[in-house]
Amino acid sequence: MSHYFGGIEAGGTKFVCMVARSPEAILDERRIPATHPDETLQRAIEFFLPYARLGKLAAVGIAAFGPVDLNPASATFGNITTTPKPGWSHVDLRARVERALNLPIAFDTDVNAAAFGEQYWNPDFHALDPFVYMTVGTGIGVGVIANRRPLHGLVHSEAGHMAIPHDRERDPFPGICPYHGDCLEGLACGPAMAARWGQTGETLPAGHPAWDLEAEYIALALANLIYALSPQRIILGGGVLHGPELLPKVRAQTRRLLNGYIQSPWVGEKIDAYILPPTLGKRSGVLGAIALAIDLARGGATA
Ligand code: ZN
Repeated sequence: MSHYFGGIEAGGTKFVCMVARSPEAILDERRIPATHPDETLQRAIEFFLPYARLGKLAAVGIAAFGPVDLNPASATFGNITTTPKPGWSHVDLRARVERALNLPIAFDTDVNAAAFGEQYWNPDFHALDPFVYMTVGTGIGVGVIANRRPLHGLVHSEAGHMAIPHDRERDPFPGICPYHGDCLEGLACGPAMAARWGQTGETLPAGHPAWDLEAEYIALALANLIYALSPQRIILGGGVLHGPELLPKVRAQTRRLLNGYIQSPWVGEKIDAYILPPTLGKRSGVLGAIALAIDLARGGATA
């Protein structure tokens, strides 16, 4: 019998659960609001249980909001560590799903999973290494694939919190990050835009100065990522990127900031093909979780 795989994109506002074997072969999908962890996890588990009991699932992948513990040798492996989201600190996400479904579980950050999925499901991206996915939405996160594996270290990339230049005369907004104030996320995530301008990205019109400032902050972050990691492609996703003309502005600002220093046409005349929107649209995270599950079932190292 050919197997399917489970995928969970565990987000701060909702869990997306999927049974699939590829983006073209999705058997079932459900969105569950992220309320109390017990309730949310119970509903996610109930979604998968019928498939697990029928023996249809080979493995489940979890793409979790974080920070999370990714160290397999740790007693708290697969837990959310500390999060400002009430009730969710120290939730043993991976262990609870594993106990309930009795299946192998692949576990990574939402953005590492999205990066993995974007590369896994698009043959054009397979040879590109390192490969970076950045999301700008409720928060800012960066996933990195290096040597074809999600990059783990002391913990995992927290490049969404990188320090970027902040001209307080031009932009007196102090930032909203509870840890750093005006880090990248504190200045440029969706809630920061809403707090600075008094309206959300959905209602800010084209031509509003918010978009040039936002493009510059994102471009500063991308330039730093390009200097630090030399990625061969960058996928830029998240709700803020739906803003008018934001992606072209980000590409132009990134090219301007690099100022010809990086000797590659991909950050020059080919930059439109270098900084790309997600191939998988809003499903990068959950289809990344499916890809991690397949990788685990085939003997990968993401368990
Ligand atoms: Zn921060």
